[in-house]
Amino acid sequence: MRKFTEPKLLVATHNTGKLEEIARLLEPYGIAITSNAEMGLGEPEETEDNFVGNARIKAHAAAQATGLPALADDSGIEVDALDGAPGVYTADWAETPNGRDFPMAMRKVWDALEAKNAPFPRTARFRSTLVLAWPDGHDEVFEGKIEGQCVWPMRGEEGHGYDPMFQPDGYDITFGEMDRWEKNKISHRADAFNKLVNGCFE
Ligand code: IMP
Repeated sequence: MRKFTEPKLLVATHNTGKLEEIARLLEPYGIAITSNAEMGLGEPEETEDNFVGNARIKAHAAAQATGLPALADDSGIEVDALDGAPGVYTADWAETPNGRDFPMAMRKVWDALEAKNAPFPRTARFRSTLVLAWPDGHDEVFEGKIEGQCVWPMRGEEGHGYDPMFQPDGYDITFGEMDRWEKNKISHRADAFNKLVNGCFE
């Protein structure tokens, strides 16, 4: 496994929620971080049907464009009773002509569960795949997840995306009700991050 020895890392995301989470998780390592927005990079099309493929596209595009090592994340929520949907299409379910609408996306998930009369608990998991790509084309891949269930009505103002309808196993609050520090200890991204840190940063 290749170690990360460079002074600067490009976090290849346009999602400010994710960027903030990743910056916090990397804080202890004293690495300077820049982002796609700061570097004026666009977002490549995510044409793969799996998290690893899409994270690879994003990480390699950013590393090639900037000459910096780049870290990309592809993530989403898989709902068992919906055969894993929305999965890699998690962000797409929130798209509207006026931008992403997550309350609407969460309602879609719940309506689909209701339409199927899905049994309780309505199990689901968040997955996060991290790809660290170097400008020479090498990459390392790390996968994380957290198991839980979909709940309704949505609860909480913290976090982002589908957090208000996801209750992780072992908790009676949703990610939307959990403080960020707590979420960052247990989340799918934290799980993938621990693997990344153990593999490339320690
Ligand atoms: P991506 O940017 O293509 O990886 O899209 C991932 C989608 O999953 C986005 O719509 C996110 O809002 C959602 N998502 C990923 N991680 C989380 C999380 O920790 N909480 C809530 N939603 C998430």
